[in-house]
Amino acid sequence: KDNVPSDIEIAKSQVPKPIDVLAGEIGIPGQDLELYGRNKAKVKLEVLDHLRHRRDGKYIVVAGITPTPLGEGKSTTTIGLAQALGAHLGKAAYACVRQPSQGPTFGIKGGAAGGGYSQVIPMDEFNLHLTGDIHATTAANNLLAAAISARFFHESTQTDKALFNRLCPPKKGVRTFAPIMFKRLEKLGINKTNPDDLTEEERSRFVRLDIDPEKISWHRVVDTNDRYLRKIVTGLGPAEQGKTLDTGFDIAVASECMAVLALATSLADMRDRLARMVIGESRAGVPITCDDIGCTGSLAILMKDAIKPNLMQTLEGTPVFVHAGPFANIAHGNSSILADKIALKLAGIEEGESEDKNGYVITEAGFGADIGMEKFVNIKCRASGLVPNAVVLVATVRALKMHGGGPEVTPGKPLPEVYLTENLDILREGCSNLRRHIENAKKVGINVIVAVNRFTADTDAEIALVQEEALKAGADAAVPCNHWAEGGKGALELGEAVIKACKEPNPFKFLYDVDQPIKAKIETIAREFYGAANVAFSELAEAQIAGFEAQGFGNLPICMAKTHLSFSDDPSAKGAPTGFTTTIREVKMAAGAGFVYPLVGSMSTMPGAFLSLPSAISCSCAL
Ligand code: ADP
Repeated sequence: KDNVPSDIEIAKSQVPKPIDVLAGEIGIPGQDLELYGRNKAKVKLEVLDHLRHRRDGKYIVVAGITPTPLGEGKSTTTIGLAQALGAHLGKAAYACVRQPSQGPTFGIKGGAAGGGYSQVIPMDEFNLHLTGDIHATTAANNLLAAAISARFFHESTQTDKALFNRLCPPKKGVRTFAPIMFKRLEKLGINKTNPDDLTEEERSRFVRLDIDPEKISWHRVVDTNDRYLRKIVTGLGPAEQGKTLDTGFDIAVASECMAVLALATSLADMRDRLARMVIGESRAGVPITCDDIGCTGSLAILMKDAIKPNLMQTLEGTPVFVHAGPFANIAHGNSSILADKIALKLAGIEEGESEDKNGYVITEAGFGADIGMEKFVNIKCRASGLVPNAVVLVATVRALKMHGGGPEVTPGKPLPEVYLTENLDILREGCSNLRRHIENAKKVGINVIVAVNRFTADTDAEIALVQEEALKAGADAAVPCNHWAEGGKGALELGEAVIKACKEPNPFKFLYDVDQPIKAKIETIAREFYGAANVAFSELAEAQIAGFEAQGFGNLPICMAKTHLSFSDDPSAKGAPTGFTTTIREVKMAAGAGFVYPLVGSMSTMPGAFLSLPSAISCSCAL
C-alpha cells in the first residue's frame, strides 16, 4: 500500500508562489502579463514579438497507449517530467496542457491536473472555471447559433422588402451598407455601393441566405455531459410560427470555436478562421459561413481574451501553460499552438548561447497516440509549422494487462485481482498495444521514449518486461518513472532520456498528403495507424465527402472522431486488433478550424455519463 495522500490533500498542502513572481522568474515582461487573482495570469500575445529574436526550445509531445477508462497518467507524466527537468535537472521546462472540461471533471474521469506529487496547482481553480475561456468559447458558439436561427426565421416569414428594411434601414431617407456587408456583396458579384441601386433580383439575393433548415450543421454547446440535449427541436413557441428547427447540443470543447482557439496562430488568424466556419448550406447547396451570417466580429470580440494562454504552476513551482480544451476523441485533442509557441520562445536560447542552455516544452496530446498524437502531427503541427523532437509514450502495467486479456476496469469499482498481482503472461500479450503505438510514432519519424508510469502494485519484473518489449518494438528508450509518488525526482531518468533523445536526428513527416482525396486520407489513417483492413463509408458519408470536395474543401487534414478505448471503432477490441473494418458513419466539416471531421462507428459529439461519481466529489472537496 502506498503512503501517498489524495490528490486534493497534496494539492492543498502546497502554497503556490504568486504567479507574477513566477512570470518574472521565467522572463515574461511585466507588460505582457494580465493577472487573474494571485494564482493565474494570462500572457499577452505581444510576448511573441518581444521574444522573437530567440530560437525555439526543444518540443516534446506526451502521448499514451490505449487507456483504460481511468486514464494512464499522461497529464501526471507531463507535469512530472516538467518538474524533473525544471526543478531537478536545471533546465528551463514548460508544461503545456488543455483546460479541463466540466464533462469529465464531474464524470467518471475527474479533473485533469495530473495526480499525486505531479500536479498543476491550485487544482480546483485549474479544474473549474480557470479564466473563463471555455465559457467565452461557449458564448461565441451559441451567439452564432442564435443568429442562424433568427436569420432563418426572418427569411422564412418576411418579404424581400421587409428584410431589406431590416438589413439597410433608411436613416433620414438614406440607406447605407454597413461595412461588413461589402464582403457579402463581393461574394454575390454585386459591385454597388448604394443600396438603392440594387435591382429587385440583386436585392433578393442580397437579403436571402436561403438557409436549408435540413442542412444546418452548427450546433449549440454546453460544457456538461447532457445526453438529453443530443437531439432537440427549437422554435416551439407560438411567436416562431411553426418554423421549428431540429438541432442538438455538443459538449463545449467539441465546438469548432474551441478548435479555432487551439489552432489559431494569431488574433488575426483566429478572426479569419471564425469567418470561414461553415454553418450549413443554402437550398442551392452553397456553403454558408459565419461571415455570411454577419457574426465574425462578435465572435472574435467574445474570444479576444480567451486567445491569451493562461499561466499557472506545478507543485514544484515550475511554469505551466493551460490553454484550449478540445477532447482527443471527438475533437483534435491538443492544447493551443499559441501556448506552445510562447513556451518555445521562453524555453529557447539567444543566438550564440550554448545549446546546453536550451529549454524544453512538454505538450500533451489527449488519449491514445492513435488519436491524440496522430492529430498532433497531422493537424496541429501542420497548422503551426512546428516539429517535435520526441514523443513520450506513457504506458502502464495496468492498461497493458487489460490489453492482454485482463477483465474490464470499471471506474468507481475495485480493480480485479490480476491488476494487483504479478502476471507476466498477460502483460506480455498486452504489449501488442504498446508495440503498435511505437511503430506508429516511428512512421511519422518521431523519436520515441516509453515512460512506464509506475503504480504501487507493479512489480520490478513487470516494469522490466514492458521496457524490454518497448525496446524490441523500436523505442529509442524505455524508462520507469515514479513521479506520481515522488514528484519530479521520480522522473529524473525520464528527463535524462528526453534530453538525450532531443539531441538525436528526427526525420519528422506527416502521415498523409493533404492534397489526396478525403477518402484516401481517411483510409491511410485507418490502415496505417489503427491497423484496419478496410474502411466502410455509409451512403451519407459518401455523399457528404463528395459534397465537401465539390465545394472545394477536399484538401483539409482529417480529424477522426473515434473511441479512445480501442484502435478500432469497437471499444471492447483491446490489444492491437487486425482485420477489422473502420466504419465512417457521417462526415462533418470544420472549414474554420481547418479539418474534415469523420464520425467513426457510433461516436457521439455529446458524451453521456453519470454526473456524480467519486472523482466529482474529490473536486468539490477542494472548496
Ligand atoms: P491521463 O492524462 O492519461 O488521462 P491522468 O494523468 O489524468 O491520466 O491520470 C489519471 C488518474 O490516475 C489521476 O487521478 C491520477 O492521479 C492517477 N494516477 C496517475 N498516475 C498514477 C500512478 N502512478 N499511481 C497512482 N495513480 C496514478
